Amino acid sequence: MQDRTYTADAEPGEDVTVAGWVHEVRDLGGIAFLILRDTSGKIQVKFEKDEMDDDLVETGLEAARESVVSVTGAVEEEPRAPTDVEVVPESVEIVAPADPELPLDPSGKVDADLSTRLDNRTLDLRKEEIQAIFEIRAEILRAARERFREFDCTEINTPKIVATGTEGGTELFPITYFGREAFMNQSPQLFKQLMAGSNLERVFEIGPIFRAEEHNTPRHLNEATSIDFEGAFCDAGDAMDVAEGVVRAAYEAVEENCAEQLEALGIRDEFEAPTESFPRISYEEAIERINATGELDEQLVWGDDLPTEAEKALGDDVGGHYFITEWPSEIKPFYIKDDEDDEQLSTGFDLMHPRMELVSGGQREHRYDLLIEGFEQQGLDPDQFEYYTKMFKYGMPPHAGFGLGGERLVMTILGLENIREAVLFPRDRQRLSP
Ligand code: ATP
Ligand code: MG
Repeated sequence: MQDRTYTADAEPGEDVTVAGWVHEVRDLGGIAFLILRDTSGKIQVKFEKDEMDDDLVETGLEAARESVVSVTGAVEEEPRAPTDVEVVPESVEIVAPADPELPLDPSGKVDADLSTRLDNRTLDLRKEEIQAIFEIRAEILRAARERFREFDCTEINTPKIVATGTEGGTELFPITYFGREAFMNQSPQLFKQLMAGSNLERVFEIGPIFRAEEHNTPRHLNEATSIDFEGAFCDAGDAMDVAEGVVRAAYEAVEENCAEQLEALGIRDEFEAPTESFPRISYEEAIERINATGELDEQLVWGDDLPTEAEKALGDDVGGHYFITEWPSEIKPFYIKDDEDDEQLSTGFDLMHPRMELVSGGQREHRYDLLIEGFEQQGLDPDQFEYYTKMFKYGMPPHAGFGLGGERLVMTILGLENIREAVLFPRDRQRLSP
């Protein structure tokens, strides 16, 4: 492309070519303005009808909103312009005209419902507050990667098409794989554990997980991004430290590097990275505290999983991020190791944001015989997992790890109401396209 200047970089005194979308045309009679928008912001282009070539004025002012235009001209200081500068055009080219009928209004003056927005994501991301969400999402993932590297982790990628599931059969998506039944992977769990037993020792993966969730909820997707960690010679406490470190790094990166985006979202003033370390509350204490809030119709008893209302009640009570530790073994998956002293208790933990669960993790069972027993207790056939279990015969160190929901992290950091806001093209029970 020819030399092109971002609108945000156009300085008075320069001759520039700016290119982008027609945000708005304002015709005031003798003078008219075209507001041109690009990824960096907006700039005003001024048309003085009596002083400029008629064709030039016509091309500029008749361009339909959201058409792509390229404008060459002189940048001048103009205190009345939104960005204190304007372009006085010498030439205007319509690069790609837009239909005058738009399915949604990127200027945001007319609200569109979420479904219309998701159907027209390209136009939706022309709004600066929506652009901001995805720039922040990218920053969060960048910060997570950087923190993992500080923890000596190697980034890995594991298969998403698998022969067996791990997180419960009902949530699996079956597919046909050259005439055989296969599934979309629900979690990189077993593969990342196999790598903790390799010379890589500490690994992380940021990739898709697929879950055929029963219900449409504001915090579940059918394809989500999981931020996974697994480390050799780590216990649950170490894995909690890493999880807390990654979540904190994400907040700090947003605070330090995304001021403009927070401003666009209207949350810059209230944005706060957590300052206190995340308390670690045992499952037993958690159910006592939940029962004491009186928010639940029925009191919880030891062994119950925590329903959504219980998570909310405890979240309000604690008021910040917290861990729940020492879960009953029976409600944690087979690969989680039991407590050394009490086999009723597991080393599993969850990291909670006051609004919802962000992370599940724990130390893993690395002893071959106990692992096989765990499979059988959970009603799974260990023979189907032989590729995994056999590596536990050849020197598998103690190890621990976690899975952190990427969209839930973005959603809770930004206070988004619906997890779909944090994904470009969400997959839910209704939505398979785009
Ligand atoms: P929940 O109980 O909230 O449905 P889970 O316990 O089934 O979550 P895990 O298997 O523990 O989920 O997965 C680890 C993390 O991955 C979760 O804490 C969550 O942040 C994220 N996650 C899991 N399932 C989904 C989903 N369907 N959509 C979005 N994120 C998810
Ligand atoms: Mg969980």
